[in-house]
Order: sequence, then C-alpha cells, then structure tokens
Amino acid sequence: MAHYSQRDDLFPMAGSCPCRRTTFTIHLAPLLVHACYCQACQRQTGSIMALNAIIETSALQAQHAAPTTPPGYLEPFAKSTGADQPQEVMGLKKVCVPSTSGAGTTLVGCPVCGTTIYSHYADAGRYLAYVRVGLLERAGNITPDVHIFTAEKASFVDIADGKPQYKAYYADRGEMYREGVKDRIEALGVMVSKYKREMMALSQPQ
Ligand SMILES: [Zn+2]
Ligand SMILES: [Zn+2]
Repeated sequence: MAHYSQRDDLFPMAGSCPCRRTTFTIHLAPLLVHACYCQACQRQTGSIMALNAIIETSALQAQHAAPTTPPGYLEPFAKSTGADQPQEVMGLKKVCVPSTSGAGTTLVGCPVCGTTIYSHYADAGRYLAYVRVGLLERAGNITPDVHIFTAEKASFVDIADGKPQYKAYYADRGEMYREGVKDRIEALGVMVSKYKREMMALSQPQ
C-alpha cells in the first residue's frame, strides 16, 4: 500500500485543541512521524507516548480565537467543577521544558485549555514544528515512520507495525526521510544552518 503522503486528498489537514479555541492547518504531509516513548514525552502527555508529525513551521498555520461552534459542554457542569469561562482572546502560549537532549523543548499550546499543539526541539529550533498528531481531524490516516526511545516505553506496550524501532534516538536524520521530500530537506538544511548560527551567536558570552 502506498504511503499516506502519496494521497492527494489528505493535505492540507486541519486540527484543533480540545476546547476548539486554537485551530491549525498543516499544509504539507509530515516530513517524518515520530512515535516517542521517552519519559519526557510521557510526562508532557500524561500518557504512554507522543505521536509527533514533523513539518516545516512555515507549512503550519495556527491561530487562537473564540470558538464559533457551541462549547460542547454544559455550563452548569463547567461551573460545578470550578472551570473558568475564558473571555479574552490571546495568542498561543509558549513554554520551554526540560528535554532528554538537555537543550529543552518549547511547547506551543492553547492558552485556554493548555493543550500542546506543537513543539520545537533542539534539532532545528523554531524552523521545525513537531505537531501532535492526535489533534488533527484525520489523524487516523497518519502512521509513525519510526519508534524511538523504546527502552523507556511502558512494559504493556507491544509495537507490531514493522516500522524501525530504536532503544534511544537514531543516528542520522537524513537516512530517516522517505523518498520524494528531497527539495524540502534541502530547503530545511538552509534553515537549520541559519538556526545553528543564531544559536552560536546567542551562546557567546556577552
Ligand atoms: Zn484549547
Ligand atoms: Zn520523547
């Protein structure tokens, strides 16, 4: 069966956070999809893993606004649990948290419900977005390309999809990309060099 990225009916694909106030669109198929079982991802999700679709940040559009659809919950219930009813419209919230690499991970999320929409990692900084696949409308079509940090996965999880598995991180990102994204990878290489120069400049003692 052809890889889902070959389909012409899937992208652009829309997504939203659970409260529906933050909506986003990925305009291209992911470059790579990580299923990550590391403890940092477990902590960020409160679950067993993170499924992240890696895409150029320039191909991602995310915005925060008051929802136009009914809230999808009962006001008396929200009130009874002490949930605040958000009034104002704000931008997306960014917070940097500890990561396995030690550099950190910047989580970009909905300012109202707090759900992370995407993250930036030390590999390419703000130029690459790791989008939470489960927030996409047609998430079921997107499958992982690689399983990483399996040494940290919960013992009850069995991986049986035949995709490559690594106990920690893999050695070479270039080898992981599928055929057909060469132009995008070349463009990304330029951005990553720029990012590395920016990081060097920021790391110089003042
Ligand atoms: Zn939200
Ligand atoms: Zn992880």
